[in-house]
Amino acid sequence: MFAIIAATVGDLSHKDNTMGQGWQPLAGESDADAILHGTPRFVMVRSAPLVRQALASFSFLLATVPTIGHLAEIPILYRPFPGEAGIHPLTLTALAALALALLLQRPFARAGIAERGLVALAAGSAVAQLGEVLLAAGTEPTAANVSSALGILALASALALRRRRPAWPAMILAGTAGMICLTAFLGFAMGIGRLQGALSPFTMLIMGPLVLAAQIGQARRPALRALFRDDQLTRVLRLELALAALVPMGLALVVFRFDPHGASSADAVYTQAMILFCCTSVLVAGRMRDRLDHERRMLARELERASFIDPLTGLANRRGIMMMANHAIHAARRSDRPVSLVLCDLDRFKAINDWLGHSVGDQVLQAAATLLAGRVRVSDIAGRWGGEEFLFILPDTPLAGAEALAELLRIALCEEVGIMPSGAVGTGAGGKPLTASLGCALIDVDRADGVERALEAADSALYVAKRNGRNQVASSPAPAATQPA
Ligand code: GH3
Ligand code: MG
Ligand code: MG
Repeated sequence: MFAIIAATVGDLSHKDNTMGQGWQPLAGESDADAILHGTPRFVMVRSAPLVRQALASFSFLLATVPTIGHLAEIPILYRPFPGEAGIHPLTLTALAALALALLLQRPFARAGIAERGLVALAAGSAVAQLGEVLLAAGTEPTAANVSSALGILALASALALRRRRPAWPAMILAGTAGMICLTAFLGFAMGIGRLQGALSPFTMLIMGPLVLAAQIGQARRPALRALFRDDQLTRVLRLELALAALVPMGLALVVFRFDPHGASSADAVYTQAMILFCCTSVLVAGRMRDRLDHERRMLARELERASFIDPLTGLANRRGIMMMANHAIHAARRSDRPVSLVLCDLDRFKAINDWLGHSVGDQVLQAAATLLAGRVRVSDIAGRWGGEEFLFILPDTPLAGAEALAELLRIALCEEVGIMPSGAVGTGAGGKPLTASLGCALIDVDRADGVERALEAADSALYVAKRNGRNQVASSPAPAATQPA
């Protein structure tokens, strides 16, 4: 049951992959990395192997009870309800082999020889049991033997396919074994004596945890791992899922138990269908909610990113520059290293707009941004401060270094960006060179308003450069003795 639901959800996630619109599957590669590299979001997925081993150990230990019963010929140990089906030795062998295989399983590794041998032993035992039932038909209560053999075959196939992509065949097979266990459980709980497909009580108690262990062994697969995340939405989903399974079952037990005519097989089938329907609905709704939440988070991230970036040039905008400058200044304060800034203003830019149009002006801004950002160090901060003004924050750089860089930037603009009368922007004969005036200042990193003061100083220097004929670098004098604010 669980597997069918999980597979449905897996299918949905696959369709989501192709939806475009920038939406990424929730359980994509980044989730795989998260699982491997240990973010708390997938702490439950990482602890899944422990749970799987605990369940497999429980089943293995429980299997020792009927084994002793068979070996010492104590029927009560393998047939707890006289007259009901007991656990068959072949079933017992197969279940013990599956429990051991699950204990040996390593989630990211291929099955070893021992694991594969145990799974094959279980499948062989189930086939032998089916053969025995066919040959000895009519002499023993065979329904339990057939259903336990089918359950074991399904479970063994699920374990054999556990690393195959896609994951849903393995999950559906384990889920089929789970449905057989649920049928038997409802048969016992609702008092339906000869429920079709019922198992002996021991088979049910040993096989049930093995089915869970097999499904939990798949916890890192995309279809299931979305159920095991450690966030608010997933916790709500798990609660809803538990309610979707327990409420219809609890109601059915109460209602059908007290039915004066007693419960029938049809009631059990109805109950199973209701559980399946409720769980599927919860998972599909949960998946949709998850997708919407993911889209919301992507949009929020995109919005946050956009609020720091200038869309025309791709450089940091004023807000982005200030955020990065704060980091640089904190680091410089600790290391006692100088930080300078350079303010660059393109000359007579309005004339370019008036001459060739706004779109050529935009192209000039883009060309200038690309050129300037490419000429500074990776550790420098380059951004668009305003219309045709660029700002550079230069960590670990004294004022003289800032002046030298400013001169290089000025020459680069002049020599490498030319504007043709046709409106083309680039280098070549006949182009009008793009010039800029630049103002430099040293930031007093010990002052809280160090950047603002340096900006004012650089702006004043820039004004001087403009007044003196443009296309030049000017510098503000070094600040006087620092007075921490
Ligand atoms: P100066 O040499 O004194 O700096 O002269 P200027 O023309 O460069 O200075 P001014 O401040 O007078 O004009 C700046 C111009 O930059 C005006 C504005 O229309 C233009 N501008 C600002 N942002 C953009 C933009 O994003 N695209 C375009 N095409 N033009 C812009
Ligand atoms: Mg300006
Ligand atoms: Mg200008």
